[in-house]
Amino acid sequence: MESQLWFSEEIKGRVRLSLRIKEQLYSAHSPFQHIEIFDTYEHGRMLVLDGYIMITEKDEFIYHEMISHVPLAVNPGIRRVLIIGGGDGGSVRELLKYPFIRQIDMVEIDQMVVEACQRFIPTTSAWLTDPRVKLYFQDGIKYMAEQDNCYDLILVDSTDPDGPGEVLFSRPFYQDCYKALTSNGILVNQHEGPFYERDAVDFIKAACQIEGIFPVYKIYQFHLPTYSSGYWFFGFSSKGLDPIANFSPGRWQSLNIATDYYNPELHRGAFALPNYVQRIFQSKIYQLRAENRD
Ligand code: SAM
Repeated sequence: MESQLWFSEEIKGRVRLSLRIKEQLYSAHSPFQHIEIFDTYEHGRMLVLDGYIMITEKDEFIYHEMISHVPLAVNPGIRRVLIIGGGDGGSVRELLKYPFIRQIDMVEIDQMVVEACQRFIPTTSAWLTDPRVKLYFQDGIKYMAEQDNCYDLILVDSTDPDGPGEVLFSRPFYQDCYKALTSNGILVNQHEGPFYERDAVDFIKAACQIEGIFPVYKIYQFHLPTYSSGYWFFGFSSKGLDPIANFSPGRWQSLNIATDYYNPELHRGAFALPNYVQRIFQSKIYQLRAENRD
């Protein structure tokens, strides 16, 4: 007999995504957020921060493959990687598939998230003890401000732009990312989604904050059933490398990297945006804010 327990994520009191729960495995308030871990019938284990679904075992592979394999298929010269956030460890797991990556620094503000995931979600966190990985438990905005020309890839694998994640969607932070990257450097950032108005405001805000800092700045899409609307984006910014022009499918395929979502055809398709998303991306607000930028 299945339990009568449900977890719901709600959007502005109008839309809900609900998952039936076997049991709540963990609940604690860190100095930064409310951390919960549930065991669900359909999606396996699930991490929730401040009431928002972060990962479920069933679909996290989509997010973590798309945040990591897209930049790595563009620049095989990536050796040193910085992850801001990423407490569940899924991005680290994907990056470690590349033997040429020498060092992964992960700057996660909340040690309790890492500890909870190491205890209850080993399917994403088991690689955090790899010798190539170094964990720093501090605010990513502070760490980034101290870096100069030392990372080939930065992944901003953060929560949404409220709570501790808010500072990671600011122009000064993205400018510091530019400074921290080497000449062929790539930044991939959590870029929210265009479908619901609550997320589209953050989607446009992120665009306005990044616009004009990097010579190359594009967004790419992926579907993620347990994220709001199931349709989400990453930003791709670089000092010169283009995600399509500099992408060599054959070179990536020769690495024999095992994936369940990412493939070279999908890489190209991820950057082909629907008309309504193009309109939002180029929307008046975006242009207005970009023109009136400081
Ligand atoms: N990998 C996840 C996914 O698939 O959606 C992304 C969420 S991950 C759990 C987000 C992490 O960002 C959280 O662990 C949170 O503590 C961390 N975070 C939020 N703000 C931060 C900041 N200012 N500096 C460093 N880490 C931060």
